[in-house]
Amino acid sequence: MKIFCIGRNYVDHAKELGNEVPSEPVIFMKPKSALLQSHTPFYYPEFTNELHAEAELVLRISKNGKYIQEKYASKYYNGITVGIDFTARDIQDELKSQGLPWEKAKAWDNSTVIGKWLDITPDLKKNDINFCLYKNKELVQQGNSEQMIFNFDKIVSYISNYFSLNIGDVIFTGTPAGVGECVVGDELEGFIEDESLFELSIK
Ligand code: MG
Repeated sequence: MKIFCIGRNYVDHAKELGNEVPSEPVIFMKPKSALLQSHTPFYYPEFTNELHAEAELVLRISKNGKYIQEKYASKYYNGITVGIDFTARDIQDELKSQGLPWEKAKAWDNSTVIGKWLDITPDLKKNDINFCLYKNKELVQQGNSEQMIFNFDKIVSYISNYFSLNIGDVIFTGTPAGVGECVVGDELEGFIEDESLFELSIK
């Protein structure tokens, strides 16, 4: 299983972190060990003082492929959910300032939460999916797939030019504006439309 993540896929989020809006998808990856298993507590990591939660729509790959054309890309994923790409923002800022890779800030053990999967059905309007993150019962992040710079099919096609996609791989499609800090004791809950797909407390 591979975990792909797209960075800076929403204009407002790219701007809030002072990044340029990309002209092609920004890809990074996390290892399998980055996935928080269900019924496992999430512990605030000891190496950061600025933990951010990035709520994102996540796709589940359902067919093996390589060099997938955009017009066929929708045949390669069949599930969607909301997840969190946890980020040690202080470490990421330091690495970015030195032009170094992001793994220490993004790919650590349990840095990734994936909600309950929803099947993608023909009537799902993929370019109009609302999702959001609540922290301590307050709305902190809200997005819609139509705000993505690169849509699902473009992302799948683009990734497959560099990496083979395999059944069970997942793709985090980027976070909208409103990323913010989390502290011990926070309760997070992620939704697609009005369906709650995960709940998590930070220990
Ligand atoms: Mg992210």
